[in-house]
Amino acid sequence: MAELFYDDDADLSIIQGRKVAVLGYGSQGHAHALSLRDSGVDVRVGLHEGSKSKEKAEEQGLRVVTPAEAAAEADVIMILVPDPIQAKVYEESVKDNLKDGDALFFGHGLNIRYGFIKPPANVDVCMVAPKGPGHLVRRQFEEGRGVPCIVAVEQDASGNAFALALSYAKGIGGTRAGVIKTTFTEETETDLFGEQAVLCGGTSALVKAGFETLVEAGYQPEIAYFECLHELKLIVDLMYEGGLEKMRWSISETAEWGDYVTGPRIVNEQTKAEMKKVLAEIQDGTFAKDWMAEYANGLPRYNEYKKQDENHLIETTGKELRKLMSWVDDKA
Ligand code: NDP
Ligand code: MG
Ligand code: MG
Repeated sequence: MAELFYDDDADLSIIQGRKVAVLGYGSQGHAHALSLRDSGVDVRVGLHEGSKSKEKAEEQGLRVVTPAEAAAEADVIMILVPDPIQAKVYEESVKDNLKDGDALFFGHGLNIRYGFIKPPANVDVCMVAPKGPGHLVRRQFEEGRGVPCIVAVEQDASGNAFALALSYAKGIGGTRAGVIKTTFTEETETDLFGEQAVLCGGTSALVKAGFETLVEAGYQPEIAYFECLHELKLIVDLMYEGGLEKMRWSISETAEWGDYVTGPRIVNEQTKAEMKKVLAEIQDGTFAKDWMAEYANGLPRYNEYKKQDENHLIETTGKELRKLMSWVDDKA
């Protein structure tokens, strides 16, 4: 059974007694920096020369310095720049500014799990990974709620690393929803698998294949869009509220019967065998190595895939239909 922690299990004064540097001010960075500040924590943001997010951070009342200055000033350094450049930022700006007893924090375990960053033995190495996109992390915090977090300690130099990580999670609202204890290995491997096989990769491929099947059979793209993409939100909301059971309670008996007999024909033994291969490539480091190489190479395949999907009929159809539904908000 997972170990769960809530507000009463975490002591906010621990992180309030430290100096925190948040490196990066993107999706996660802005949420952590603003919510920690609102929780009474001494925060500075570290951003590179010419950063696009600098102005926004300053407008929102935060002090912005270079990543090296932030790391030198602080004794808790949270690295929230994109995963493929974390090792470079660590080498150039963090490594030489680490002192005895400092803590190095991550929002995702990839660079530690695959050894791209190797911290010295005299610092704590912790992870606080919200299980939701950064903009939701911030919005929920402002509304008095929180996004669940998973927390891990890779290296406990101080002997108090876990209490520090829990305190940090409380500062961004995580313990309001619940925090689960994990390891860098478990977080990294399950996060990569979840986003590739189910949440992002699996879902977008399923939606596109369903849409294409209907359109190729001569049905109107607008109808196919509603059926395969738009309605997905309603189904997922029901699952989120009450699992598969609540979703099946709400849909028609006909839809429920189709769910049972057709679902396993679409996601079948072959799909599951491929999922196991995907997981094996995550576990043995193949995925991480390929992704770092793609990034270092200037993202040629990434940009090609992105362009292809931007021009997909499901996207151009959706853009027009969403204009007519003023309540569908496509802003962050
Ligand atoms: P983003 O891409 O949204 O933001 C990156 C930020 O880093 C930007 O502010 C960017 O500045 C800045 N940056 C880029 N290069 C440097 C540099 N050399 N020095 C300092 N700052 C730099 O990142 P995410 O928030 O998506 O990801 C951050 C981490 O959080 C990753 O480890 C990710 O896996 C993890 N995570 C992300 C989630 C999410 O919701 N996106 C969910 C859970 C974990 P500029 O504006 O100038 O480009
Ligand atoms: Mg991820
Ligand atoms: Mg229907």
